[in-house]
Amino acid sequence: MSKKIKTIYPFTNEILKEYNSFSDEEIQNALRNSEESFVVWKDESVDIRVNFLEKLGEVLEDQKQEMATLITKEMGKPIQESIAEIEKCIWLIDFYHQNAEDFIADDLIDTEAQESFISYDPLGCILAIMPWNYPFWQVMRFAVPTLTAGNTALLKHANNVTGCALAIEKLFLDAGYPKGCFQTLLATHEQIETVIEDDIVKAVSLTGSEKAGKSIAEIAGRNLKKTVLELGGNNACIILEDADLDTYIDTIVKARMQNAGQSCIAAKRFIVVEGIYEKFIEKFKNTVESLQSGNPLEKETEIATMAREDLVETVMKQIEGSVEKGANILTGNKKDGNFFAPTILTDVKPEMPVFDEEVFGPVAAVCKVKNEKEAYELASKSRFGLGTMLFTEDIDAARMQISQIADGAFFINEMVKSDPRLPFGGTKASGYGRELSKEGMMEFVNKKTVYIK
Ligand code: NAP
Repeated sequence: MSKKIKTIYPFTNEILKEYNSFSDEEIQNALRNSEESFVVWKDESVDIRVNFLEKLGEVLEDQKQEMATLITKEMGKPIQESIAEIEKCIWLIDFYHQNAEDFIADDLIDTEAQESFISYDPLGCILAIMPWNYPFWQVMRFAVPTLTAGNTALLKHANNVTGCALAIEKLFLDAGYPKGCFQTLLATHEQIETVIEDDIVKAVSLTGSEKAGKSIAEIAGRNLKKTVLELGGNNACIILEDADLDTYIDTIVKARMQNAGQSCIAAKRFIVVEGIYEKFIEKFKNTVESLQSGNPLEKETEIATMAREDLVETVMKQIEGSVEKGANILTGNKKDGNFFAPTILTDVKPEMPVFDEEVFGPVAAVCKVKNEKEAYELASKSRFGLGTMLFTEDIDAARMQISQIADGAFFINEMVKSDPRLPFGGTKASGYGRELSKEGMMEFVNKKTVYIK
């Protein structure tokens, strides 16, 4: 039986649209279309598949404002951030347009054979399960390299961004991609289980919570299907005594408050050495309090509503649990509809929810430590492993830490951010596999050894 899906503008709680989830028959049709499309798409030459990207970039550029408005309406982020998200997608498309052919060209390997090489063949239909926080970016960073490698794709997006999910499908069609190459499924979790089990689906890419990661990996594992998991994060941001706060304070604040804090790679735990603590707190608080809040559709708005009411409630519970254990509220902690004021908690320690758990909202957890050694020790106390940030002027000393950081990324004097040119992904409870760059394109290909004696 089909399920109703409602999309809601979180700033006003106005219902935007209602959709019906697909019937089982519609899901089966989509699977068949994907398989039929794959048979043709995989045999297109790489340069033809790469050429589609040029058109895709143009179509997205033409519809930039409209798509950005849709993002803002469905999940509430400030319009300027939505425009930046679309622009980043265009950059990604251009990057693969320039580089994809090189990435998947045969790799010749010298052996005693007449010829031996690796051929990078597509796998088939790949299922993507995606979150709402960057509703275009998360999908495009999966779809662009995966389709260009010759696969087809099915998308199960988060329900609250169903309009974005359908708009993305239309973008691929508008760019001339063959029908069936990229399809959006409006599906329940139970239907997704049957999709993963279906022989047509060869692998799954999930970006989402740890809970979803475990459940999807379990279903895929039972069916011996590969997964790429981009899960939650609890990134540490270490501030050493010699950090140049005058230069970097805006970056440090953005690292936490961007997208109302609803970002996997946000700085969540601020670990500050005591010699700079007072100065840091003063600048951090002033900058956080100066963020312009308001209507997400207005250009001046820097921080807006969170995406859903239940997300606000979860964040409030995490704060309450931490205050009970001794954390102090320096600023914020006020709810107004689905807006949650940017909040700073100090005296944060392990075993408080804001230290141990991922806080998916505009809440900075600040810990004071005696010295550098304690800072690194505390930073590494996390089940997650998406990234670590470090602010210091001593780059040589920072380099010595590279091998000690067990995360998927280590950013010095910069916030952890994704970039089409660099691999992106986590370790530990943040998942496995990589997206973006050549590494991302290699996730859903058969690296076939060819040997000619
Ligand atoms: P979520 O609740 O895990 O949902 C993510 C997607 O998975 C949604 O499409 C959801 O569909 C689907 N899903 C969840 N459980 C499922 C199941 N059992 N079967 C089939 N589909 C299932 O996460 P979210 O709240 O949307 O996103 C926030 C989380 O994503 C945070 O933990 C964040 O850190 C993480 N994230 C990670 C990255 C990264 O790159 N590492 C990037 C962005 C976000 P429904 O909407 O239908 O439930």
